[in-house]
Amino acid sequence: METSTGGAARPDSGPIAAADPPVTAGPAAPAVDTAVATGACAVPPASLSPSRASDFMQCPLLYRFRVIDRLPEKPSEAATRGTLVHAVLERLFDAPPAERTAPHAKALVPGQWDRLRESRPEVVELFADDPEGERLARWLAEAERLVERWFTLEDPSRLEPAERELFVEAELDSGLRLRGIIDRVDVAPTGEVRIVDYKTGKAPRPEYAEGALFQMKFYALVVWRLKKVIPRRLQLVYLGSGDVLTYDPVLADLERVERKLLALWDAIRTATETGDWRPRPTKLCGWCDHQAHCPEFGGTPPPYPLPVRAAEPGGVQQGRMGPD
Ligand code: SF4
Repeated sequence: METSTGGAARPDSGPIAAADPPVTAGPAAPAVDTAVATGACAVPPASLSPSRASDFMQCPLLYRFRVIDRLPEKPSEAATRGTLVHAVLERLFDAPPAERTAPHAKALVPGQWDRLRESRPEVVELFADDPEGERLARWLAEAERLVERWFTLEDPSRLEPAERELFVEAELDSGLRLRGIIDRVDVAPTGEVRIVDYKTGKAPRPEYAEGALFQMKFYALVVWRLKKVIPRRLQLVYLGSGDVLTYDPVLADLERVERKLLALWDAIRTATETGDWRPRPTKLCGWCDHQAHCPEFGGTPPPYPLPVRAAEPGGVQQGRMGPD
């Protein structure tokens, strides 16, 4: 099965995306900032995306800041470049196969950058202190290098994606909705499905590969639930290091990730109801935009916008995952 690409560079732990609705409060789902005034009870989230699931696993307080408080986050050069590269890879498939060349892909970069600035004006701030445009030129050149490297990993002239930037959503028996956006779906003539995701960073070390595959198994579970088909292959394409990580899932993998997500959802519901969102400091705090609000760094979180009940004796075990 040969295929194509697609994908909007969405670093998976990035800010809230369209697939990530906020936690709501009250039966009529009023905005969170009206919950206290109405006296409504906290209502846990009804859906999860891979990004937000990863947020909670990394740090429950980070999840709260992003999903409940919806604190603003600054665009980063790396994340924005990822978005740009994804857009280029997706658009390249608009061209006939013979024209899907590296020079053509690189030529798409300036136009896609223009489109990105129009759709997300805040990214312009990234280069506000660069009047000569030197840093922007280097940044765009790096985007071109990432695009060019893709041609050493896949041959888009031989790929014809079934889907690009595919929004998927499936509801589990428990009522939990899983949603996300798959960069590319390839379907072989035999019907076998391959799910492909582009990463503009470097491939993880082998001991961290399982974490990298979590997002892909999440998508595989959604596809299985939607189509009753287990994807034949999950493929992560790392443009930063020129690596391709693949995994062929089996039913037991999907059942395991479903159990894990249900345990995660339970933990999120408990935290939503109790207001007990604990910080979990790691070296990833260095990339967190919310240190000023984080007790681990001397900050104070905003007032919790939902009514909070006392934690159970013995505390709340947030983020405790099921067996994996
Ligand atoms: S700084 Fe670290 S501990 Fe604090 S919210 Fe961010 S990720 Fe969590």
